[in-house]
Amino acid sequence: MTLIHPSDDTEPTALAPDPERLDARSRRAWTERMAVDRREDDTYAVTTESGHTYRVDLREHSCSCPDHRIRGEQCKHLRRVAIEITARSVAPPGRERARCDVCGRVTFVPEAASPPHRCRHCRLVAGDIVLDRETGKRLVVARVLDERADERVVEATGETVAEYERNDGYPADDPVVEATYLSDARGSNPSRRYAFPRSRLERTDEQRIE
Ligand SMILES: [Zn+2]
Ligand SMILES: [Zn+2]
Repeated sequence: MTLIHPSDDTEPTALAPDPERLDARSRRAWTERMAVDRREDDTYAVTTESGHTYRVDLREHSCSCPDHRIRGEQCKHLRRVAIEITARSVAPPGRERARCDVCGRVTFVPEAASPPHRCRHCRLVAGDIVLDRETGKRLVVARVLDERADERVVEATGETVAEYERNDGYPADDPVVEATYLSDARGSNPSRRYAFPRSRLERTDEQRIE
């Protein structure tokens, strides 16, 4: 078993680069005042300081400005849209901005996705490694259920997950997460799953690779 820090799962950061080190177009893309609006058809209207509005289509990698149309350049408008997406101030094509219902961070969700919304940090998927806040032990997520902690009955005890003593104080409406203890993986009981309210588990940046 190997633990890795998945490289494609790092938080995009809005860097303010040293303008001196950028070429002229990139510098303008970062420093000029431009308003970026996403339109219904998933293109972007970029309005410049001088009041011109250009249409940027990221999927086509095109812009209606002369710089792009005539010279075929990666113009400052195209770059600006990419910068704003990285900074999470506008959504990429096919997605929309939403607030994570757990931590409040801005995240992108598929269009027309219904709440609750979870950002990448708060959403767990099978294989994620989490820390149990009560015991400090590490577990591997097996699956996240649609059921709430006060709905899911644990067969062994006949109690709901929310009723279980150790889960006192965690929200009763948390989704239930099933997970196996990492220490069990090496021991006698490799696949025994336990149910937890989501908030009892703290996300780590690790994932289990089979
Ligand atoms: Zn342009
Ligand atoms: Zn979140």
